[in-house]
Amino acid sequence: MNGSRLDDFLTLSRSHPWELAPFSESLPDGGQVQVWDTGVLCIEPVAPAGRDLVLSCGIHGNETAPIELCARLLNAILSGRLPCRQRLLFIFGNPAAMNLGAREVEENLNRLFSGAHARGDKTNKERQRAARLEQYVERFYRSREGTERLHYDLHTAIRPSAYEKFAIYPFTHGAPYSRNQLAFLCRAGVDTILLAHGPTTTFSYFSAHVFGAHAFTVELGKVMPFGQNDASRFAAMERNLEQLIGEPDWQPAPVDIKQIRVFRVCQEIVKQSEQFCFHFSEKVANFHAFPPGTLLAEDGERQWFAHEQEEAVVFPNVRVANQQRAALMVMATELPPEMLA
Ligand SMILES: [Zn+2]
Repeated sequence: MNGSRLDDFLTLSRSHPWELAPFSESLPDGGQVQVWDTGVLCIEPVAPAGRDLVLSCGIHGNETAPIELCARLLNAILSGRLPCRQRLLFIFGNPAAMNLGAREVEENLNRLFSGAHARGDKTNKERQRAARLEQYVERFYRSREGTERLHYDLHTAIRPSAYEKFAIYPFTHGAPYSRNQLAFLCRAGVDTILLAHGPTTTFSYFSAHVFGAHAFTVELGKVMPFGQNDASRFAAMERNLEQLIGEPDWQPAPVDIKQIRVFRVCQEIVKQSEQFCFHFSEKVANFHAFPPGTLLAEDGERQWFAHEQEEAVVFPNVRVANQQRAALMVMATELPPEMLA
């Protein structure tokens, strides 16, 4: 596609950070590439197989490794090197924040889904973006029925992690967890799973809950600036995605569920006021464990302790807004066979 506007879709998106007029082009094999908006590009193969796959990245603008990974996959498809056999929606979430090298411009995009963008009287670009991204996902999934819907929302964490790669399995409302999806993640190097404990306003929960997609927030490692990521550390995920995209009936090899480390949320620490503080270092790694009884955080009169079993901390962040989650506390658990399908 020499000389096409799609030669560098990421650069094109970043030069129109909030809006880009739709256009479409043809793939070398006759498929269609439809640009729906800045950072949003749908691939319609000539004869799509049975999966509808959403790949999102850059929902937080400074999480560069997944953005680079998605850009490589997209370029491989556009150049004809990777045949695209599944319908595929690429979403580069927040180009304006990418341009700032920041997580967000005004508001955390990954707290604005499932209608949260319309709650309260605030308006800003990120809220408008979340509303549009919801519409694009809806348009993508609703244009055919009976397919396997997938959504991998790729992130990197702000801090180091005791388990480098992990995924959040959105709350299933009692539905069983997918063995196949756990195998896909595990084969992609993501062998730690955190089971969410309730509905949230994340992108992955939105796709899972509204469209019945197998959807995950996938954390691939620590944030680095553009160009400083070591692609070999994401190679397993990249290869699995290439196979998923390029081979119509590909399935990951099954895994022994015992190989997967599983955690469930045991408490949520919500910041109440500017007095809020943690009783551990800001630099602590995700999944750092605390013995029972440890004082974890304090906010005026309010105190949070680790309970009866060892608890580990995920996503501690003292700088969140009041009434927002400052950390999740999790504990190791097991997935009994009856919770798997
Ligand atoms: Zn993120």
